[in-house]
Amino acid sequence: MSLQPVSTLPARSGAALEQLNLGLEGLPLDAFLGWAVDAFGAGLAHVTSFGPTGMVILDQLLHLNPRLRVITLDTHFLFGETYELWERVERRYGLHRNCQPKLSPEAQAQQYGPHLWEVDPNLCCDLRKVRPMADALAGLAAWCTGVRRDQGPTRATTPLVAWDGRYQLFKLNPLAAWTRDDVWSYIRTHNLPYNRLHDHGYGSIGCTHCTQPSAHEGDERSGRWAGTAKTECGLHWAQPAPGAFAV
Ligand code: SF4
Repeated sequence: MSLQPVSTLPARSGAALEQLNLGLEGLPLDAFLGWAVDAFGAGLAHVTSFGPTGMVILDQLLHLNPRLRVITLDTHFLFGETYELWERVERRYGLHRNCQPKLSPEAQAQQYGPHLWEVDPNLCCDLRKVRPMADALAGLAAWCTGVRRDQGPTRATTPLVAWDGRYQLFKLNPLAAWTRDDVWSYIRTHNLPYNRLHDHGYGSIGCTHCTQPSAHEGDERSGRWAGTAKTECGLHWAQPAPGAFAV
């Protein structure tokens, strides 16, 4: 397979990216990640909150490059089960890297009130996720995420490779075409660690304040911001401006 080298890609060129995606579509995961490691070198980072999809990518990527930069965002509002999984992942793979919001929960409460996630969750996500991620990704060439097309309507057209104009780097979605069953089959076959909350009905796991067990079977993100119109934190899709949140 002959792919246009990333260094020659005009970053914002839709046609060039489309061509690249056509060449990459259908590649086995290890071949896609091998391409990514070669193409972006030390400029590649994997961003994961240790969800099932992120764990599959992590497992494969660290086989290819044990020194890979792995970034996990600690909002300070994660479940005890998530922190426990984080420790298990570190023991298994020997990695430690995280990024955190500038505001502690106490400072945020003082500045914006005690329950910002209820009053203006877009601002809360902006402060605790979107801005810290900008700092973590600064200077990198590409970030790898666990987004899949079958996770919901906002994700249905996710390409394998996109240009992320907000953070100014390439965004890779290696498992875009995988299904939930594909992911769990890999986890079981390779005995990967996973968040114990998945055994208790949680399809997608974020902050304690905004995560419940999935409301609808088969819709793994239906427990995130349940009962509101919000479906994304803003890392993967731009959200309405803070204050424009609709319940
Ligand atoms: S998911 Fe909820 S608690 Fe976490 S940063 Fe967003 S609004 Fe705040």
